[in-house]
Amino acid sequence: MKTFLADKDGFYGEFGGTFIPKALEPCIKELQDKYLEVLNDPSFKAEYDALLRDYVGRPSPLYFSEHLSKKANCKVYLKREDLNHTGAHKINNTIGQILLAKRLGKKKIIAETGAGQHGVATATVCALMNMECEIYMGKLDVERQHVNVQRMEMLGAKVHAATSGSMTLKDAVDEAIGAWAANPKDIYYLIGSTVGPHPYPDMVSRLQSVISEEIKKQLTQKEGRDYPDYLIACIGGGSNASGTVYHYVDDLRAGIIFAEAGGKGVETGQTAASIQAGKVGILHGFKTMVMFDENGEVKEPYSISAGLDYPGIGPLPAHLAAEKRATVLAITDDEALKAAFELTEKEGIIPALESAHALAVLDRVKFKPEDIVVVTLSGRGDKDIDTYLKEKNRFLKSE
Ligand SMILES: *Cc1c(COP(=O)(O)O)cnc(C)c1O
Repeated sequence: MKTFLADKDGFYGEFGGTFIPKALEPCIKELQDKYLEVLNDPSFKAEYDALLRDYVGRPSPLYFSEHLSKKANCKVYLKREDLNHTGAHKINNTIGQILLAKRLGKKKIIAETGAGQHGVATATVCALMNMECEIYMGKLDVERQHVNVQRMEMLGAKVHAATSGSMTLKDAVDEAIGAWAANPKDIYYLIGSTVGPHPYPDMVSRLQSVISEEIKKQLTQKEGRDYPDYLIACIGGGSNASGTVYHYVDDLRAGIIFAEAGGKGVETGQTAASIQAGKVGILHGFKTMVMFDENGEVKEPYSISAGLDYPGIGPLPAHLAAEKRATVLAITDDEALKAAFELTEKEGIIPALESAHALAVLDRVKFKPEDIVVVTLSGRGDKDIDTYLKEKNRFLKSE
């Protein structure tokens, strides 16, 4: 049967695969050889499921939003990943990968982080499993995301400020990869999204697929059928999006709409919309849609949301877009802010800025009254309060 998921070499159509320097080959080969065996092992599954239930708090609720339903003139459900321990979907992945690292006999965990959400989720599971943890973060991001740096340090992680290049996420990844190649036997590199060489995109998608597995059960209970008419998610690297659609990609009854970060607008160049503004290229060990500048260098992306601020995108969303299986909209900063204030005002839920991009899709697309629409609320907005307060006067209605 035709599938949109990865083949055995980690390709999704032309996207994905393994494009790495020789020094990394042993690290990657070991993972490629072992990840499926470990993930499919019943004792791994039992341990993973128990932690998701009792430590993370899963299943996350599927919440019917009366206000959004009225506004969008259809039935809108929110998949509440914001209620997970540490405040986002990232923990689904870090729990799975740390269990894998232990089974591979690794001694130390390293990870990259931009806004710090993946860094916090990694430092959390390292504390839980008593593993040494070092987080690579661009020096500029260390300064911009100070609270998350303090959380990581409280959790016992060492935060390594990357000082190369533009001192942001891309440079943190470069430095983490360098450290990994220097000691592949003891170090496990815990990647936070569906990016990097095979097997990371497929592995992270599988670990996040618990999201769509739960949606199926919850919709059956609430609506008497296991699929929605539309699934909506934001894409940074693509992990919450891949998890949201994983068990539906080959079921064409479920439409897919992704929101990428349009920033100030794709036409301004100040954007992180890799699908609309990018070209096929290679980034961090895999083939995908990448934003380049006029000199052919990887371009520094821009978005108000640090979690979507990546110059590439996971290979599954890239493939779904190329095949027109998914519609991809570039949502601007202002559209996302408007959606965030509206959810806060009307539902009492402060969404992460990333998730607000997915919510803004409801203002762009016309649905039928009988449509069932599931929007993944990937995280909570506590980390974004400073930004929201700064923008408040432009968006709060004075009634
Ligand atoms: C990191 C993050 C994202 C973007 O990452 P994906 O891998 O694309 O899911 C989205 N939402 C939240 C809340 C995040 O922390």
